[in-house]
Amino acid sequence: MAKASPTVTGTGADVHPEAPVCVLTKVGEASLKGRNRRHFLEVLRRNLKAALAGVDARVQSGGSVLVIPVNDELAADEVASRIERVFGFATASVCLRCERDSERIADVAMLAFARRRPESFAVRVRRRDKTFPLTSQDLEREIGAAIQRRTALPVDLSTPALQLRVELDVGYAYVHVREIPGAGGLPVGTSGKAVSLLSGGIDSPVASLLAMKRGLEVDYLHFSGEPYLDPTATTKAQAQAKVLNGFQAARPAAMWVVPFGNQQRMLSAVSHESHRIVLYRRQMARVGCALARRLGASALVTGDSLGQVSSQTLPNMTSVDDASELPMLRPLLTWDKREVMAKAASLGILSLSELPADDACPLFAGAKQRTAVPRGDLLEAEAQLDLDELAETGADSARRVEPGVFLGRLERESRAG
Ligand code: ATP
Ligand code: MG
Repeated sequence: MAKASPTVTGTGADVHPEAPVCVLTKVGEASLKGRNRRHFLEVLRRNLKAALAGVDARVQSGGSVLVIPVNDELAADEVASRIERVFGFATASVCLRCERDSERIADVAMLAFARRRPESFAVRVRRRDKTFPLTSQDLEREIGAAIQRRTALPVDLSTPALQLRVELDVGYAYVHVREIPGAGGLPVGTSGKAVSLLSGGIDSPVASLLAMKRGLEVDYLHFSGEPYLDPTATTKAQAQAKVLNGFQAARPAAMWVVPFGNQQRMLSAVSHESHRIVLYRRQMARVGCALARRLGASALVTGDSLGQVSSQTLPNMTSVDDASELPMLRPLLTWDKREVMAKAASLGILSLSELPADDACPLFAGAKQRTAVPRGDLLEAEAQLDLDELAETGADSARRVEPGVFLGRLERESRAG
């Protein structure tokens, strides 16, 4: 398909720079990975390709800068919104590509000037082709002068109203017209796999996202209060998992649902009311580990935040850790609720997460939970049950459900291992 040239209308100055539109993305931390760098970049490229499925765009070049030529700015916007969901990129920008010539660059830059109508400007050049005969500073001066001849605007190096960024690569110059926030982090899949405990509430989806951000592939595990509670929380978690899978497009994960009501009832029969949430959490950890083993995952993730509720104090979290064979990762440990809510809002799932639903946790547990349940009491209660056996039973009963929005009954699909 022929490349359409971008056009600005309604600005009083229509601009036809006849320059192909590209999205330029820069790899973040993954580019620092020494001998593993190649592997990280391969995974990132795969993730990017999966995220771009259905968009008419090819990923070009390699190394720590990827160039994605697109047909027009509309396509660039689509690519940009997909890139915001690919962990591993530090920055991205929509650029116009042209010859490495100051006059051409100034022509092409007029698009940005026509849109922004700045009162002053500065040119910042980055020379990635170190063999180019002019220095970055020489080029900045040349391009600046060429722009002044066209616009008569003053150069302001300290607080320019428009900062024109230009990258000089082998073969082409890239004139930035719009910056896109990079998602940061490491490519999903470069840190292994974890099972994330997804309650359907506010914290756990954000925790799952942060785990992905540091390169973990995430499978979801939800404990439902069946047969005592209706599946509202489960359907919420399912919808959240769908949104989260947008960040691991190369390998969208399933959600596993473990009916937990009966195990909670058994634990409540042998324990004091104010100890129960910690006992449930310890058992969730055991079931989580049993399932993780079957799924080849090597950590659990939870949405705990230090001191948020009585089950998340240091003594109680330590007790939960003691029941877990695998490391329990708590990405939100130091986050305030307000910060978590802001992140959930930016993900577009806050209102979904806030919908009322009966959470499995309070089932059979009183309102008052101890902030430091004595270890002896936990062990005494647990000694009356075979919890490892029950953990296997829990993992056996895990139903695999597809993330998504479902209004009907949950379908039974398949079991783990
Ligand atoms: P959330 O919004 O994640 O529910 P919360 O503040 O309500 O957070 P708790 O209910 O105390 O927190 O749960 C702490 C963590 O334990 C959750 O973030 C989640 O990771 C896990 N968890 C709790 N209940 C469930 C559940 N029913 N299924 C799966 N995980 C759960
Ligand atoms: Mg909860």
